[in-house]
Amino acid sequence: MPQSRNDHNSEGGSTRDFIREQINKDLASGSATKIVTRFPPEPNGFLHLGHAKSICLNFTIAAEYGGQCNLRFDDTNPVKEDQLFINAIQEDVEWLGFAWSGEPRYASDNFELLYEWACHLIRTDKAYVDDLTADEIRDYRGTLTVPGTESPYRNRSAEENLELFNQMRDGHYENGSKVLRAKIDMASGNINLRDPVIYRILHSSHPRTGDKWCIYPTYDFAHGQTDSIEFISHSLCTLEFSDHRPLYDWFIENLPVPSTPHQYEFSKLNISHTVLSKRRLTQLVTEGFVAGWDDPRMPTIAGLRRRGVPSDAIRSFINELSISKSEGIVEQAMLDSAIRENLNETSLRKMGVLKPLKIIIENYPENHLEKMEVPNHPGKPQFGSRQVLFGRELWIEQDDFMEDPPRKFFRLGPGREVRLRCAYFITCEEVIKNSSGDIVELRCTYDPDTRGGNAPDGRKVRGTIHWVSVDAAVDAEVRLYSHLFNSEAPGQEGNYLEDINKSSMEILKDCKIEKSITDLKPGSPAVQLERLGYFCADICSKENNLVLNRTISLRDSWAKINQ
Ligand code: ATP
Ligand code: MG
Repeated sequence: MPQSRNDHNSEGGSTRDFIREQINKDLASGSATKIVTRFPPEPNGFLHLGHAKSICLNFTIAAEYGGQCNLRFDDTNPVKEDQLFINAIQEDVEWLGFAWSGEPRYASDNFELLYEWACHLIRTDKAYVDDLTADEIRDYRGTLTVPGTESPYRNRSAEENLELFNQMRDGHYENGSKVLRAKIDMASGNINLRDPVIYRILHSSHPRTGDKWCIYPTYDFAHGQTDSIEFISHSLCTLEFSDHRPLYDWFIENLPVPSTPHQYEFSKLNISHTVLSKRRLTQLVTEGFVAGWDDPRMPTIAGLRRRGVPSDAIRSFINELSISKSEGIVEQAMLDSAIRENLNETSLRKMGVLKPLKIIIENYPENHLEKMEVPNHPGKPQFGSRQVLFGRELWIEQDDFMEDPPRKFFRLGPGREVRLRCAYFITCEEVIKNSSGDIVELRCTYDPDTRGGNAPDGRKVRGTIHWVSVDAAVDAEVRLYSHLFNSEAPGQEGNYLEDINKSSMEILKDCKIEKSITDLKPGSPAVQLERLGYFCADICSKENNLVLNRTISLRDSWAKINQ
């Protein structure tokens, strides 16, 4: 439920959620003076809506308290990381409307210092080089109910450990043949404290440090220390790190770090009918289930942008989420309604026909076109109007005609009269079919006295339909999207890949759109095609080969179909 956004304590600090309450407390007690947060992505994939929650939280909190928010790449695993992801992440954070403090930072900027701190742990008998294999380490670790067993290498001397660790750095050993472990407590109730691995050998080039290193710190050994180096006051992360907090604190207590940050955990964002896990999104991309990280069906920031979703809509969606410790699934409908609300206010209206049916107005002069004045937004005169050409031959939507309509069908049928939006009343006089019985054309008449959409005799029609004149239409390919997954929580039962919605994209060729659509370039704000939804130009769209993405329909049709 959206919470009141005006909750403030007597000092003016927001009491919106437990994190802000904690910050208020820390400022009041003096344990924090400047609020510094960070968004710490690992550059091994594109950002998704879950990251957007973390981004909005970290940047907004810093802004609210007059502090700063850093962008820090958690680049400690070169095997999966790539400069491509570093670039995409920066682009996405900026597009969402946030500015990080100073230059982007990298955990790898601190590799030398982290190495020294690892040596410090060795010298103080708090770390050792272990020769056990990864499997052996797992076996020795024990379980939640069984304490772990100490490694036979646990009691090497500091001198020996320093020498071995130095040799690891110098490339004397194969991947996996040795690790550096913190020496904490193999019987701890918290498995993360059972001598966690803090350095591993990876003969792998790093996007930033190249081949300088062949040993890399683990996430746990880098994260808190980097927070400390950056003087982060509140290190915000998701709940799965709660069990790592004692380890985070252990490193801060046992190393000569410059500041003492604290970690706070909040629940992840989950959204229905999609997946928000980099591992799964990576699989969708690499195994070709989607066209790439920016496929418009993907819940990635790049995908949403390509689909025409404005960043403001994402921010207002995120702003309605509660920051708490309880896990749940947010309905995709909530995101959709934020998108519709935004686009309804901001987008220009145009007319277009997705599944065209030709009509000929028999009593309209041949070779004549007239200009109809059509408002660009029905509720906003300040958006102005444009002239749309009207003529004897028009396209209307196939769905707007029924040969044998039920009583409540207020659109066109034989002998029925409807209004063409901002034009005339027309009546269907004859239905033309091809030899297989398909309707290929309608013959209609119009009432010249109804120009602009009203009859002087006050006669009413029950329906208004959109149209495009044949002479002034441009062709476009239109791509319609729906949920990527059929079930609300993909993979809750069985393999999530089996939940993929095979018809999540429908491609319509030869759609007919009013000519001004050629103003719509890749990256332009989405427009509304009246009665059909909001559309943007896809990145591959060209002036003579228009490709439109439907950002979203005007109403939620999914709920209806799947009831
Ligand atoms: P994933 O869970 O998709 O694999 P990750 O945690 O591996 O993501 P990171 O790049 O490490 O991805 O995440 C950067 C930050 O974003 C972390 O602080 C992480 O807690 C946060 N984050 C990741 N997923 C979500 C989510 N679904 N909701 C909120 N925050 C998230
Ligand atoms: Mg992570």
